Amino acid sequence: MRRFSGLLSPRIAAAVMTIMLLVAAASGLIPYAAALGLALVASAVLYQAHRLRQASAALQASEYRTRHLASHDWLTGLANRAGLEARLDEILSNVRPREAEAAVLLLDIDRFKDVNDTLGHMEGDEVLREVAERLEAIVCPPDIVARLGSDEFAIVKVSDNASRAARTVSEQVLAAFASPFHLDEDVAHIGVSIGIAVTSHTGTRREEILRRADIALHDAKKRGAGRYRFFAPVLDDMVKQRRQVEIGLRRALATGTELYLAYQPLYSAKGEITGAEALLRWNHPVYGSVSPMCLIAVAEESGFVAQIGDWVLDEACRMAKRVPIAWVAVNVSPVQLCDHGFTRRCLDIIHRHGIAPQRIQIEVTEAAAVEKPELAGAMLHALKKSGVRVALDDFGTGYSSMSYLHTYPIDRFKIDRSFVNRLSQGNAGEAIISAMIEMGRALRLDVVAEGVETPEQRDLLIRLGCQEMQGYLFSRPISGETLVAKFNSMRNPRPFAS
Ligand code: C2E
Ligand code: MG
Ligand code: MG
Repeated sequence: MRRFSGLLSPRIAAAVMTIMLLVAAASGLIPYAAALGLALVASAVLYQAHRLRQASAALQASEYRTRHLASHDWLTGLANRAGLEARLDEILSNVRPREAEAAVLLLDIDRFKDVNDTLGHMEGDEVLREVAERLEAIVCPPDIVARLGSDEFAIVKVSDNASRAARTVSEQVLAAFASPFHLDEDVAHIGVSIGIAVTSHTGTRREEILRRADIALHDAKKRGAGRYRFFAPVLDDMVKQRRQVEIGLRRALATGTELYLAYQPLYSAKGEITGAEALLRWNHPVYGSVSPMCLIAVAEESGFVAQIGDWVLDEACRMAKRVPIAWVAVNVSPVQLCDHGFTRRCLDIIHRHGIAPQRIQIEVTEAAAVEKPELAGAMLHALKKSGVRVALDDFGTGYSSMSYLHTYPIDRFKIDRSFVNRLSQGNAGEAIISAMIEMGRALRLDVVAEGVETPEQRDLLIRLGCQEMQGYLFSRPISGETLVAKFNSMRNPRPFAS
C-alpha cells in the first residue's frame, strides 16, 4: 500500500478511487450519493496522508543534514573535530592491544597564513579543499582523515604496527605536499608538519592520545617546517618545564626584581671601548641563572617577547644615559621584527630617555628575514632612517648571510664566534675570516669579531684587518655598575699590539 501510494500522486489516487466508486454506484452496488461522499472522504484522507509523508521525508532529510553538518566540515566534506572524536572513540573501543594499535597524526599546514594573506581567503579555501583531496587519496577506510579547523587536519590509522604505518603515511603526506598547489591564477607552495601519537605508548584514552599528538606536532613545528615527529615522554617533560618557565617569567616581569641586564664591552684594535652589548639575565629563585636563549624562546612562544624587548631597551637607554659610552646594543628577536608596532615603540622609548638614536644599536639575526622578510625590512629601514644603528649578529651561521647584507640596511656585521674559534685550527679558518673582513670593507660595513678568547686570536684578527672585537679575553659580561667604573677608568687606552 505504501509502495502503491508512493507511486501515485494523491490526485491520481483520488481520481482512481472516485472512478471505482462511481462504477460501483452505476452497477447499483451503492447509491450515487454515498459513492460521492465516500469519494470526497477518500480524497481528503489520501491528501492528508500524502502531506504527512512529505513532511516526514523533509524532516528526515533535515535531520540527516543537521547530523552530517554536526560531524562534517562544510568546506572540505571531511569529518570535523566532533566527527573525528566520535570515530576515534569507536576505533579506540575496538582496538585490541595485542592485535592492533591506532595512531593519530595531527597535521598543521606550514605557511598557510601567507597563502591567505597574499592570495586571499577564496584561494586559501581552494588550497584547503585540495589538501583534503590529496589526504583522502592517501588514507583508505576504515582509517579516517578529518579537518579540525583552520589549517589543521588529522588522520587516524589502525594497524598491527601503528608506528610503522604512521611513518609510512607521514612520508606519503610529506611527498603529497612536495608539489605546488595550482589555483586559478596562482600557485601556492606550502608544507606540512605532523605530530604522531600511538596507542601502544599512550593507552586508549581519546583526550590523552590527542594531547600527545599535539605535543609532538608542536615539537615538529619548532624543529622547522616539513617534518614529522612521534610523541616521546621527554617532550611532555619539556612542555611542563616550559610552562614553569613561562609562569616564572610572567612573575619576573610583574615584580621586576629577577630580570637584569649584563653588559659586555666591545673593544677597538687600539684597546678602546667602542660600545657595549646588553645581555639579558634572569635570576630565577629556584633554577638560578636561566640562559637568555631559553628565556627568549619561551617568551617568543608565549607572546610576551615584545614586552621583554621593550623592557630591555628601556634599561639599555637608562645605562646609555649614565655612561658616556658611544652606543649600547640590544638584541632583537625575529618575532619582535614581525610586530607592526615595533619601530614606533623603539623610537618612543629612545625619545623618552632623551638620548640620540645613534647611541642605540639593535642586533638582529638572519632568522628575522625568514618569517616576514618585507615587514622586517621595513622596520629596519625606518629605524636606520631615524639614526638607530643596525648590526647583523652571528654572521655566517644562517643560510642567507650574503643576501641579508644586500637586502637590509646593515651598518655592521658580527662574525660568529664559531669562526673565531676555528682560527686556531689553521689556514682554512684564517681564510674565511679574511674573506669576511674583505667583504665588509668592499661593502663599507664595520666588521666585529665575536667570542675572542685568546691573545693569539686577537693578534691574528688585528693582522687580518679586524677593527673591533668582543670576547672573554677583553671582558666577560659585567654588571651595569662595573661597566660604569670600567669605562671611567679607561682614560688612556693602550694599544693591544704585542
Ligand atoms: P649574542 O647576541 O651573540 O651574544 C653573545 C653571546 O656570547 C653572549 O651569551 C655572551 O655572553 C657570549 N660570549 C661573549 N664573549 C664570549 C667568548 O669569548 N666566549 C664564549 N664562549 N662566549 C662569549 P649570552 O649572554 O648567553 O647570550 C646568548 C644569546 O642570547 C645572545 O647571543 C643573544 O642571541 C641572546 N640574547 C641575550 N640577551 C638577549 C635579549 O635581551 N634579547 C634577545 N632577543 N636575545 C638576547
Ligand atoms: Mg648580540
Ligand atoms: Mg652573536
